[in-house]
Amino acid sequence: MQYHENILGTIGDTPLVKLNKITEEVPGLVLAKIESFNPGNSIKDRMALKMVEDAETAGKLKKGGTIVEGTSGNTGMGLALAARVKGYQLICVTTDKQSKEKIDVLKAVGAKVVICPTNVDPDDPKSYYSTAKRISNEIPNAWYADQYNNFSNKAAHYEKTGPEIWKQTSGKINHFIVGVGTGGTISGVAKFLKEKNKKIKIWGIDTFGSVFKKYHETGIFDENEIYPYITEGIGEDILPKNVNFDIIDGFEKVTDKDAAVYTRKMAREEGIFAGNSCGAAVRGVIQLKKHFKKDDVVVVLLHDSGSRYVGKIYNDEWMKKMNFL
Ligand code: PMP
Repeated sequence: MQYHENILGTIGDTPLVKLNKITEEVPGLVLAKIESFNPGNSIKDRMALKMVEDAETAGKLKKGGTIVEGTSGNTGMGLALAARVKGYQLICVTTDKQSKEKIDVLKAVGAKVVICPTNVDPDDPKSYYSTAKRISNEIPNAWYADQYNNFSNKAAHYEKTGPEIWKQTSGKINHFIVGVGTGGTISGVAKFLKEKNKKIKIWGIDTFGSVFKKYHETGIFDENEIYPYITEGIGEDILPKNVNFDIIDGFEKVTDKDAAVYTRKMAREEGIFAGNSCGAAVRGVIQLKKHFKKDDVVVVLLHDSGSRYVGKIYNDEWMKKMNFL
């Protein structure tokens, strides 16, 4: 018989799929690592499980405890799977910018969801960062996962995601492109790939309204770069400890409109029903094309599934309202 002991055994080993039409103008072989194949439909299952296991080993998360996290949904889903299987409570603190589907999905897997305003400073007591911290201090036997600063996040990608990409490309990968939020994915994968071959170029996809690109290029944390934006999951108004700026070769910013339009194009032209940040990443591959040669192997990572965006990106009325169509 072939079966897993529980759903957590199905995390990882996601497929690599060639992009054909959408990246026609890009030199080289463009391959997408499709993370919606994880049981929680996003890459975040990987790091959520690793954070929980490491917290258990360190004695920070104890039997019957409560996991608290600030999450836009995907990390919450990953934590929920681990919480269900291992018998923990879960409280997810998120912002009012997130799609309703993401919040309903978290509730479906038994999480309690607390919603905070988006447009406040990270230090504001109402921010989702501050609220998650406060709740974890108030509740007995609670553990704050803190995906931004918890190094188990990037370790998950150093131990699993990076090696998978290396093996699937038989070590032929030349460029890795991925959206950056907490920085866990890019930093973990980049460390593994650069240890194997330091010539591999690592490109981070950023949003307009985020601090990453300017900070990487100038070392300046410029508050004028911060303003509200639409793209979900990438870009930040803080510098998470999980972003290792020195192993990233460059950041590329993609507009909210291009991210949305390319997300839809992926579904229509490639049959890949992916999330909002995936459209940003694929658009980023096209914007970066002058860096690639015809024999290069370019891997772009697609973080999550389109199912979490049916009320937004995949909804014509919403797209028209945003002036994206
Ligand atoms: N895309 C989506 C949809 C996400 O939820 C996240 C996580 N915030 C990212 C991209 C960025 O990944 P990371 O946090 O590993 O940088």
